[in-house]
Amino acid sequence: MYDLAIIGGGPAGLAAGLYGARSNLRTVIIERGLPGGQMQNTLDIENYPGFKHVLGPDLSNHMYQQTLELGVEWKTGEVTEVRLDGQPKLLRVGKDEIEAKAVIIASGALPKYLDVPGEKEFQGRGVSYCATCDGAFFRGKHVFVVGGGDSAVEEGLFLTNHAESVTVIHRRDTLKAQPYLQERAFKNPKMKFVWDSAVEEILGDTKVTGVRVRNLKDDTTTVLEGDGVFIYIGFYPNSGFLKGTGILNDQGYVITDAKMATTIPGVFAAGDVRDTPLRQIITASSDGALAAMSAFQYIESL
Ligand code: NAP
Repeated sequence: MYDLAIIGGGPAGLAAGLYGARSNLRTVIIERGLPGGQMQNTLDIENYPGFKHVLGPDLSNHMYQQTLELGVEWKTGEVTEVRLDGQPKLLRVGKDEIEAKAVIIASGALPKYLDVPGEKEFQGRGVSYCATCDGAFFRGKHVFVVGGGDSAVEEGLFLTNHAESVTVIHRRDTLKAQPYLQERAFKNPKMKFVWDSAVEEILGDTKVTGVRVRNLKDDTTTVLEGDGVFIYIGFYPNSGFLKGTGILNDQGYVITDAKMATTIPGVFAAGDVRDTPLRQIITASSDGALAAMSAFQYIESL
């Protein structure tokens, strides 16, 4: 049996693993993909203290190595079922059952789909949710970014390194992104903006050839030609396996107190899956550290 089982190996899970192992807890991190989570899809990170610039995959690897050196165990797989009440806590991962005294939920969030015709059909053929992964395929091409938040603008700016033009299509007439990102985007000659508009259809033959957009103010539709559509309209929490546990809010985010504790004793949450006002690497890491220390105190009290 483990002392601490951490669901998810993004910055929240990695920091929780680091603090758990340093508290001498026998700790396992369960991750279905690569260590680092969304950091793996972020090329240039500029807002993690101590680094002016750091590549997401590099920061992921540093954190991952640190957990290995401290003796954290890693298990690849997806948690599909949980029994969180009482002792021990049980997590189903494929055919295996993991037992632990305390659990930290750090399962993050996944990109939202636009849900328009053409989106599914052209996934991998021009429709993408990861500029870092797919940007290089669009060298010299014209691409669209849908959304107006930090992700849309940051990833749009990244795409200007490859594409000839990057057109942000946003359903409002102002961006939601942080001012420094907006400033950079408006200064960049490759960035263009289509305001007050919703993408109604992604068009193509064997691959994307354009989008049909509706202007929400005058209700006209226009076809814009382009080669790629990057969708950045927010995220869904990865919390399906927690249905019925009573610890989720209406949107499926895990509710915690200031010490990252849920209402179930011994169950904590950290990072993007949590109901939190800021979803950043630094806040996820901070959550992870705090959750691990709370888990340590809980285990001590058993
Ligand atoms: P977000 O802040 O939720 O923004 C989503 C954007 O997509 C909004 O502009 C929203 O428009 C638009 N949108 C939502 N649903 C839509 C739909 N169906 N059709 C068209 N547009 C739609 O999401 P995010 O940009 O991914 O950011 C998520 C979190 O990560 C935020 O807390 C953000 O600060 C953080 N983040 C930080 C950084 C950084 O600091 N470097 C980078 C990336 C992300 P409306 O405003 O009209 O709803």
